[in-house]
Amino acid sequence: MIPYGRQQITDEDVAAVVATLRSDFLTQGPQVPAFEAAVAHAVGAAHAVAVNSATSALHIACLALGLGPGDWLWTSPITFVASANCARYCGAAVDFVDIDPQTRNLSVQALQAKLEEAERLGRLPKVLVAVHLCGDPCDMQALHALAQRYGFAVVEDASHAIGAQYRGQPVGNGRWSDITVFSFHPVKIITSAEGGMALTQRADLAERMQLLRSHGITRDAAAMTQSPDGPWAYEQIDLGFNYRMTELQAALGLSQLNRLHHYVQVRQQLAARYDKALAGLPLTLPWRDARDQSALHLYVVRVQPGAPMDRAALFERLRARGIGVNVHYIPVHTQPYYRRLGFAPGDFPQAERYYAEALSLPLFAGLTDEQQATVVAALHEALAA
Ligand SMILES: *Cc1c(COP(=O)(O)O)cnc(C)c1O
Repeated sequence: MIPYGRQQITDEDVAAVVATLRSDFLTQGPQVPAFEAAVAHAVGAAHAVAVNSATSALHIACLALGLGPGDWLWTSPITFVASANCARYCGAAVDFVDIDPQTRNLSVQALQAKLEEAERLGRLPKVLVAVHLCGDPCDMQALHALAQRYGFAVVEDASHAIGAQYRGQPVGNGRWSDITVFSFHPVKIITSAEGGMALTQRADLAERMQLLRSHGITRDAAAMTQSPDGPWAYEQIDLGFNYRMTELQAALGLSQLNRLHHYVQVRQQLAARYDKALAGLPLTLPWRDARDQSALHLYVVRVQPGAPMDRAALFERLRARGIGVNVHYIPVHTQPYYRRLGFAPGDFPQAERYYAEALSLPLFAGLTDEQQATVVAALHEALAA
């Protein structure tokens, strides 16, 4: 089966992990700070906090921004569930903003209309999680302007978008948001097996997230509330978690980061080839803003109404041919957990229409020309009139 995505592990990656395995530290050593510094430098952020997953990063990002019971977090229904769940971990409520069918990211127009209504109802969000779906940046300037006007914080869920550029600037530099989160799960652009990172320009948010990542414990005398009993002293000043990244993960991530630029380039070449080879089929190919650079985490086509086969049939046909197509994503508000919170099918029509038609084609750094030709041929065979 040709997967829709997979990691690429080089001899250098293996050597980096093995060297760390033989070193003095398996956790809380030098690799994690080195990985943090390297990612922060690569994207132009002042601070980086590495954790064991992007899900954990989203959680501590929300906590650092003060999200809690009585507050609202808004996000797109077309995302992985973690973009919304982070609010629930904090005891906050979730609502969704329907997508723009062209960009597939949350619609700025829908957001503006929803904010106007929320202001009347006194129910403005505290945090907006802006998901850069497929690695395509959201319109951050527009979101930032609304954040200023209505007083909410913006977290970029850039799990798909390390290596992307928005208006010529790297996603993650925090120019238009409070915190940006990356994922290093194996299907993402670069991997640390499991892992995530939160980036910010604000020292206060970085300090909060560092504290929350490791039990709420500080060894910094300046942060302690009592005078230390001795040099062994530490204080738990808040309720935190163990969300630490291991040294092995950081060593792998650091090694992979050397190839970030290369991986994004390869993905762009593969996507350009799909664009060309699939033109003319009854598929809506992914639109990309010429002013930006997508990280191309996913290549999602939409099966047009009236095509010889609908998305469900096409999915099965391709799977039967050994092509591991996938669907990103089932709208979060239709998941049973969210239905129990009061959401229902029909709530976000653009998201639901997108979901009915969307199909993710294989796209990853190690996809061979031959494999890509197999995917293209199978699509032509299935969809030729
Ligand atoms: C993968 C992903 C996450 C979660 O990442 P983990 O590192 O697996 O926790 C969150 N949001 C989006 C949009 C993702 O694709």
